[in-house]
Amino acid sequence: MELLSPIDTIKGVGEKTTKLFNKLGVYTIEDILLFFPRTYLVYPDPVEPDKDNVNANIAISARIKSAPKIFRTKNRLDVLQATAFCENTSVDIAWFNSNYLKSNIEPGKVYIFYGKTVLNNGRFKMTQPLIFEPEKYLEIQKTVQPIYHLTKGLSNNAISKVVREALGRCKIDDNRLPKELEDKRDFISYSKAIQAYHFPENFDELVKARKRLAYEELFFFILNSRLQEEGNVSYPNNFKIIHHNKTDEFQSSLGFELTEDQNKVLSDIREDITGKYVTQRLIQGDVGSGKTIVAFLAMLDVALSGYQAAIMAPTEVLAKQHYNGFLQWTKEHGLDIPVALFTGSMKVSEKKAMQKLVDENESCIIVGTHALISDGREFNNLALVITDEQHRFGVQQRDKLSSKGERPHIIVMSATPIPRTLAMILYGNMHVSIIKTMPANRLPIKTCVIKEGMRKTAYKFVSDEVEKGHQAYIICPLVEASETTEAQNVTDYSKKLKEVFKDKYSIGVLHGKMKPAEKNEIMADFANKNIDILVSTTVVEVGVNVPNATVMMIENANRFGLAALHQLRGRVGRGDAQSYCILMNASSDGNESKRLNIMLKSNDGFYIAREDLKLRGPGDMFGVRQSGEFSFKVADIYQDADELEMASEDASYILEKDPNLENHLELRSTLNSFLTNQFYVL
Ligand code: ADP
Ligand code: MG
Repeated sequence: MELLSPIDTIKGVGEKTTKLFNKLGVYTIEDILLFFPRTYLVYPDPVEPDKDNVNANIAISARIKSAPKIFRTKNRLDVLQATAFCENTSVDIAWFNSNYLKSNIEPGKVYIFYGKTVLNNGRFKMTQPLIFEPEKYLEIQKTVQPIYHLTKGLSNNAISKVVREALGRCKIDDNRLPKELEDKRDFISYSKAIQAYHFPENFDELVKARKRLAYEELFFFILNSRLQEEGNVSYPNNFKIIHHNKTDEFQSSLGFELTEDQNKVLSDIREDITGKYVTQRLIQGDVGSGKTIVAFLAMLDVALSGYQAAIMAPTEVLAKQHYNGFLQWTKEHGLDIPVALFTGSMKVSEKKAMQKLVDENESCIIVGTHALISDGREFNNLALVITDEQHRFGVQQRDKLSSKGERPHIIVMSATPIPRTLAMILYGNMHVSIIKTMPANRLPIKTCVIKEGMRKTAYKFVSDEVEKGHQAYIICPLVEASETTEAQNVTDYSKKLKEVFKDKYSIGVLHGKMKPAEKNEIMADFANKNIDILVSTTVVEVGVNVPNATVMMIENANRFGLAALHQLRGRVGRGDAQSYCILMNASSDGNESKRLNIMLKSNDGFYIAREDLKLRGPGDMFGVRQSGEFSFKVADIYQDADELEMASEDASYILEKDPNLENHLELRSTLNSFLTNQFYVL
């Protein structure tokens, strides 16, 4: 069996299954081998259910005293119900549409149940638990089970089987790295690593497999980016861009001084755009550090020099926010620079009008979402393209934006907090500028973690802030009520909130299922203070700037990764007033409060991400990705920091001796096949 054979060459994979695999991005044998588990499961020792382990997956050992009963709910769901007796407590168990289980369960016998318990009106409940005979459970406890991303119709078991078959029938070539690196690093072999990453015998082996695969990924990534760097430097800069005195005039009438870091970044960019070569620069600055104004000043120089500059943002809300901000700036300061906007939800006639504006003005500023890069959109005079929140875009999308001009200068902006040295390793082909300090008027955000019992106080606090003329965000994990998860949803929550505040305040709702135009309207209302409290899902996470908002309350905060909480918290603390972040912890798991408490210790996103990892258990380690910036299959820049350093050192070593890999043809071809398999971002 060949690596590139289609997956239907595997026994038992017919037309229907092939289609399902295709949905998961799996087409070939190689794809399935590289379709790595999302996380792993080690079945835990059985415990007694108590209030400290509710809402988490646990195993209980319990006796079923009388035969399970079947009944039918209003919406015609069959429920199989039983009561399971542990040592001191009993648990109500329910399975949906699983009547066949009834005959397998013997009254009087002890079973192990694995699943999530919840506490409901003083009773423990478990829905849809897995059920095992005790001896079988002991056996299965010795293994590490892969858990894959699924699609409807394709079970975890079915995927495991196909992977196993592919592993058994396919020969994986182990000659991937130069021999001297293999010897120096002494990782387990590639084929062994692939095998063990799917089906590890134990955690030890899994860690070894991960080391090898993460190292490889990082090595090829860095190698490629250094090779590109070689090829990049020499495009001459034919744009005649000057540092314009009108930009300075504008800057001095802004009403605030740029911070030292902002000034430094701006002068870095000016060196680029007025320099000899076309350049690519990464601007990194934590949320709220003020990247937008720097981008605008650079675009202004470009436009005043007679060219067009474009900025692409990942959401309509954000694009609209930039557009309105830029319009206001140009109007208020009498700058004769047209600003155009392109977003998906605009009417055809509006887009036409904008395109006309661009066609008729050699110099202008262009703002938009992905709509900027859609086919047919043309810009004739682009000298600078900027991607905001760059991790939300793929390489191709960014390339496509630059291809709308003739080798324009490129800036990408990111709020992922990584140290400079790391950024230089990862973005070898870019110049890196970092905005470290926050604008001087900022007070650090005060954060607290609270439990349900403090809800009233929290609402009183929100109301006090609103009375002062400020605004608040309240974040809920869900859009609407769900049968399987007990977490707050924006739909019901906003209704409840209206009652709590007796309709005194204007409450808005925002979530990802709304149409872009609706979302824009809500965000505009919030920005214009027509909405006091915005109840939202995490759609506000990226880039939204409403400096008058001073409270960020996050419901079910325990369900979010700390990196995400950090980004959310960054939506407040963007003005002069003291801001607050209230994290509602709905879990009674002690580890959860430990984790959330990290948020109290620091405002530094990098620190937070690393501490979060330290607290996670081994099974967790494989599931979370702290940074959305790089979509590696295995590697994570925080978790695999050691391998990252090795990879960087080794890539330099190889390229020093052989800058174009002319004497490493095998390595070059492995690199090429790696690149076609990877959808990473650079
Ligand atoms: P981000 O880096 O997260 O994109 P923004 O560019 O949206 O941050 O800036 C956040 C807020 O800070 C904006 O309201 C902006 O006008 C303001 N701001 C930016 N720079 C300064 C500064 N030097 N002094 C005071 N406020 C600033
Ligand atoms: Mg921003």
